[in-house]
Amino acid sequence: MIREIKDLISVPKDVVILSHRNPDGDALGSSLGLQLFLERKGHRVYVITPSEYPHSFGFLPKIDKIVISDEDKSRAIELIKNADLIFCLDFNGLDRIDKMGEYVHASRAKKIMIDHHLDPEPFVDFTISETEASSTCELVFLFIKDLDEVEKIDPIIGECLFAGIITDTGSFKYNTRPLTYEVAAALKNRGVDDYWLQDKIYNSLQEKQLRILGHCLANRMEVLPQFRAGLIYLTKEDYKDFDIQRGDTEGIVNYLLMMKNIDVAAFITEQPTIIKISLRSKGDISVQEMARKHFNGGGHKNAAGGGVYAHLSDIINRFKKEVSNYVNSVH
Ligand code: 5GP
Ligand code: MN
Repeated sequence: MIREIKDLISVPKDVVILSHRNPDGDALGSSLGLQLFLERKGHRVYVITPSEYPHSFGFLPKIDKIVISDEDKSRAIELIKNADLIFCLDFNGLDRIDKMGEYVHASRAKKIMIDHHLDPEPFVDFTISETEASSTCELVFLFIKDLDEVEKIDPIIGECLFAGIITDTGSFKYNTRPLTYEVAAALKNRGVDDYWLQDKIYNSLQEKQLRILGHCLANRMEVLPQFRAGLIYLTKEDYKDFDIQRGDTEGIVNYLLMMKNIDVAAFITEQPTIIKISLRSKGDISVQEMARKHFNGGGHKNAAGGGVYAHLSDIINRFKKEVSNYVNSVH
């Protein structure tokens, strides 16, 4: 497979890199890192995401050149239609890129998926999917290594890739395998300033975000010790009162797992049209299964999410009801 891909990228092409709605550090880092790498090989490369990126990643190179299809749909469609080669990074089902999925499906470009989520769908020509990988960034590094081109990774590309590893592992707290550290070491050897990156990513909150976190913990948290579970919810009014924007609530779900004896966490938010749920778990409890079966979503075993057309209270109750099955099956 790598030989065929090597042939495909041996001459300059029009390349589109797509990643998922609400792109996170891994989606952005892998897309921008691969973009810079391919540009250095002479390709014309565009990154498309369905929705806006969190401002905290504004320091990543070329992030301001990303085409956001919610805002510039016709341009995104045109780029997909003109592409010779499409990379799908950090997602494995066309529903994760909304309407753009139809155009990717219809496109005659060769398609390559690089991803680490469970249950990849067969909509591409080449699938590089490893669920054991910490992140798509780790896989993009290994892809470049397979191409024998690690020396093309400079500190700028390296920082993009390192950013995704940091964010998808919570700074190496989960989702790691020995290879993750080898990739991190290799990137540091390529000149990545990981202290600078950690500072950029984790010490860049606005005052507002800390106040939102305080509100969540003080007023919107419920603990269900009998199910080893906890939840935090936010209402539409909270969104107005605290002027909450996309990205402002990133990471809040993880606070629940900081409690002793809590193994499952849910962060449930009332969005303009849907209720979004973010799930996290420890050990063998599969929130991916919970998200898939009950919340119209998916993800990883220990980090998943979904979205449902319903009332906030329905989803809170659904979580409370279902969580007992998942926890009891383990303990
Ligand atoms: P988060 O809770 O940070 O939004 O998402 C955690 C993980 O859950 C993501 O990496 C993604 O894989 C998955 N996820 C979140 N929302 C959805 C969704 O609506 N559908 C699917 N299939 N997966 C989701
Ligand atoms: Mn990822």
